[in-house]
Amino acid sequence: MTPADHKPSSIQLMQIELLFKGLSFSTAGSLVVALAIVLIIGPRTDQQLAWEWFGFLSLVSIYRWLSHYFYSGLILGSRVSHKWGRLFNSGAYMAAITWGASMWLLYPVHYPEYQVLMILALAGVAGGALAVLSYDSKIIIYYQAILLACIESRLLWENQPFSIELAVLSLFYFGFLMKGGHEIGRNYEELIKLRYDTEKHNLALLSTTEEIARIGYWQWDMLSPFIKLSINLARMCKTDQSQVTMKTCLDKVHPDDRRRVKMAIESAIETGQDTTVEYRIRAEQGDDWVIMNQIIKRIETTEGEHALLGTVQDISIIKSAEKKIFDMAYFDELTGLANRSHFHQHLDEQIKQAKRQDKSLAILYIDLDGFKEINDTLGHDRGDEYLKVISSQLKNLLRDVDFIARLGGDEFCIILSEINRGIDASMVADRCLALSQQTIELDTQQIHPKMSIGIATYPEDGDQANTLLKAADTAMYSVKQSSKHTYAFYNPQMTSDSIARLQLEADLQKALENDEFELWYQPKIHLGTGRMSGAEALIRWQHPQRGMVPPDQFISTAERMGLINKIGEWVLITACKQQQKWKQQNIHLSIAINIASGHFSSQGFTEKVEQEFKRFELAPGDLEIEITESQTRNPEEHINICRQLQAKGIQIAIDDFGTGYSSLSVLKQLEIDTLKVDREFIRELPHEPAAALMVSTIVNMSLALGYNVVAEGVETREQAEFLRDLGCPLVQGYYFSKPVTVARIEELVDTHFQIDQQDALVS
Ligand code: C2E
Ligand code: CA
Ligand code: CA
Repeated sequence: MTPADHKPSSIQLMQIELLFKGLSFSTAGSLVVALAIVLIIGPRTDQQLAWEWFGFLSLVSIYRWLSHYFYSGLILGSRVSHKWGRLFNSGAYMAAITWGASMWLLYPVHYPEYQVLMILALAGVAGGALAVLSYDSKIIIYYQAILLACIESRLLWENQPFSIELAVLSLFYFGFLMKGGHEIGRNYEELIKLRYDTEKHNLALLSTTEEIARIGYWQWDMLSPFIKLSINLARMCKTDQSQVTMKTCLDKVHPDDRRRVKMAIESAIETGQDTTVEYRIRAEQGDDWVIMNQIIKRIETTEGEHALLGTVQDISIIKSAEKKIFDMAYFDELTGLANRSHFHQHLDEQIKQAKRQDKSLAILYIDLDGFKEINDTLGHDRGDEYLKVISSQLKNLLRDVDFIARLGGDEFCIILSEINRGIDASMVADRCLALSQQTIELDTQQIHPKMSIGIATYPEDGDQANTLLKAADTAMYSVKQSSKHTYAFYNPQMTSDSIARLQLEADLQKALENDEFELWYQPKIHLGTGRMSGAEALIRWQHPQRGMVPPDQFISTAERMGLINKIGEWVLITACKQQQKWKQQNIHLSIAINIASGHFSSQGFTEKVEQEFKRFELAPGDLEIEITESQTRNPEEHINICRQLQAKGIQIAIDDFGTGYSSLSVLKQLEIDTLKVDREFIRELPHEPAAALMVSTIVNMSLALGYNVVAEGVETREQAEFLRDLGCPLVQGYYFSKPVTVARIEELVDTHFQIDQQDALVS
């Protein structure tokens, strides 16, 4: 169908429809009139012929009824056809000719009053035609013209004065009828055209609205094989509006969604309840899938039949917005990995699935080693960069079915679905650890990423997400506590360890109030004079049940718990008080205290130190603060604090030098008084050439820069001699003395330490 003949066809459709509508009723009416003629006029002419005529008219009527019957059985689309117009017209003309023939066959020549009756009956038929034929101005005129021609010809042929009078009268009467019929016909045609235009306009409006709202609708009367689609829906599906079947539509739906769509339609038909279904559809192979939301309603048509009406909305845009929101809620912005809540949800699902399928799964809890140092020394931006690189490296190690999330900070968790008890899990853990063979470059630093991994498996270690996660966390923690950069499977012993850990935390909370801490002191020996020149204060915890707890077992916990600043203040005050006492006893030692990095740079720290320094009437050289190398990387802040303290005569020492990420070149930028060489290097002296070179370089450079130097962890005579020969002024270590109580320091203060006579002291 081309657009050009679209409009006439549609008008024609309406015309034919209206014409057929009145057909059966008017045909029946005309048969009644014919019967009256046969019965009333028949006896006045030829009864036999009258019945024959009636029979013929009945045949014509049957023809018309049949055409009507077949026409109404048609579906909408095929009703627009010239064939149906011609079929109707031929029926109408045959009826007109049959009626006209009655003038020639049945005219009651000898009965003027019946002649009038006959003319009146024919005029009635012509008038009645007005009601049913005037939807087409041509048919009504032709119909009446045929009748008129037969009447006029017969009357004029009679050539009687009365028949001529009747002919003139009929001419006038039919003239009016035809004129009226023509006019009514034109009016109807106008109306039909107007209705067509309005419908067309409304449809265009509707289609534009549909297009804007990305909606469409379809209607199916359930008897016909075809569904009628709205213009926009037909456009969306790239199909014809009226010649589509349910199957063609369903074929365009995503195979996975088809069953749901069918079920929704069936449920709407059966229950009469509105049903809603969401599905993916595409017009043609190769197009993108579009997500549709469809509401199906069972309605009643004007004819009282059931039909289905479906409204369809393209919700792809809404869906993609939902996805964005979902991403924001479920993914970690920095690394793009799943976040904690997503992880929990996924783990729950995976456990359920494993339960159903009787399979096992494993989770790997990963915590990066040394991340805090990287953050402290290189800054947060570099820290973030490091996390991003690690994230993508970890992700690349996994299969598609596995899942990785960042739980926060430097903690990651991997879910391995469908594993063979442990074997896959340890393989993956090994692959994660092997990442340390590569380097990650940050600024100019080459970092080998290290991590501690705890593994828990379902169902052995728990059948709930929470217990499983806790088990993996516990296993990870035990790795952190012991070796680091390795992995461990969870075992129940770890839980008792972690219970002990929790107990320790609870006890630590109360340790300060209960006055359970003590300071012990370790002498610093001047190698040149053999005298104790100072002492490092080292904290000890006298636990009421566990006895003495060394600082390695609680300092990092206190840092994590946020208790370290309070503990640090206690150390500061206790050491200052001790210094005041010793000075009163004429014991002159420089006391060094250890301060945690967070505490050192915290608000009000310098003021607090100055305050205690003054309260206990200390003098320059009485107090030294040891901080670790990692704090020296925030240069401005660090230098400011150092300068402020040094201005009051408080000295600053760098502890554990050589273990952090700073290089030797940092040495000259430091605002410090003392440098303490880490005992890792001293341990390898004097036989390890690299350590020997390192220590001698650090010592020489430091001395050249004017710093005091202390070698930590001196345990043997060879080490002490090596250091003395190197010119290292101060040493500290078990070879001379372990950390000892205040009373013992007071005994040692006059001791003359000699390298070759110290063996007895080491115990
Ligand atoms: P650190 O500051 O490096 O202290 C030196 C540690 O080395 C002490 O361990 C000491 O006993 C040990 N040590 C000394 N000579 C030798 C030796 O010859 N061989 C060996 N193997 N070890 C030796 P300690 O007292 O257990 O303290 C451990 C760490 O705990 C300290 O390391 C320090 O970082 C921290 N710490 C101790 N007391 C405090 C404190 O009051 N506040 C803070 N924030 N940290 C403290
Ligand atoms: Ca120290
Ligand atoms: Ca140290």
